[in-house]
Amino acid sequence: MPELPEVETVRRGLEDSLVGQRISRVIARRKDLRFPIPNDIGTLTKNKMVISVDRKAKFLMIKLIDDTVILSHLGMSGRWTIISEDFESTPGRFAHGGVIGTGDGPHDWVIIQLENGTEAVYSDPRRFGFIDVIESGGLTAHPMLKKLGPDPLPDSLTPDMLNESLIGRTAPLKTSLLNQEIVAGLGNIYVCEALSRSRLSPRRRSGSIASERGPTARLHRLVSAIHDVISEAIDAGGSTLSDYRGVQGDHALGYFPLSFQVYGREGEPCLNEACKGTVVRYVQSGRSTYSCPTCQR
Ligand SMILES: [Zn+2]
Repeated sequence: MPELPEVETVRRGLEDSLVGQRISRVIARRKDLRFPIPNDIGTLTKNKMVISVDRKAKFLMIKLIDDTVILSHLGMSGRWTIISEDFESTPGRFAHGGVIGTGDGPHDWVIIQLENGTEAVYSDPRRFGFIDVIESGGLTAHPMLKKLGPDPLPDSLTPDMLNESLIGRTAPLKTSLLNQEIVAGLGNIYVCEALSRSRLSPRRRSGSIASERGPTARLHRLVSAIHDVISEAIDAGGSTLSDYRGVQGDHALGYFPLSFQVYGREGEPCLNEACKGTVVRYVQSGRSTYSCPTCQR
């Protein structure tokens, strides 16, 4: 499943190819993905210039000149492929694998054709993603967006905000951090990593690191770790972006270079400084948790 850093990489790739270009037409090859695709998607977008490609949590927003927005979510297996005369690329592909859209593949559902001949193809074998068309004024009220908390980045999530959300909360810390109303788009992998770096137990009661008097030292540590983990992952994805232009296919892209400290490392030594513990795995709310019980308290 694409996580926030990969979605940000996809956003940058789409921004590069779409912004400033006029859409000649949008073709939808089926009526629905996870939700119906508007049947007037073609007329709502025809001959309109793309002015920006934005992101909120894991939602992508392709904004057109008259306040029309193509809202997209990659779900479990969605991807965008850019096809032009000079190159073909699938931004984010290096991070989450899977099929490449060609425009006529079996899972290529939506094709945005630009006047300059470039195509952006949305493919989604499992069809848990979605594509919607709305007015930009309706974004904050959109049912999928209205309850989202801040993005896990320094310009969005602050210690005060997280403190406010965690005061009195009895759920395990990891469960709260996966709650989209508290932090939006911070996935399972990155929650495990941030908790390891801040040496906090995923099972700790959420409210125990918050205080009416303001953020505790532990909470400050956690917020810094969240910012660092996500920023590093975005940088790791973003750093390969400059290489993708001109690449035939995208086999030349390296694998996501971020190395995980605990995620996927069950039974291996803890990498936190001066810790001699071993990483364990257990299941919380149906998701795998990786942590070191020796240093994460
Ligand atoms: Zn440890």
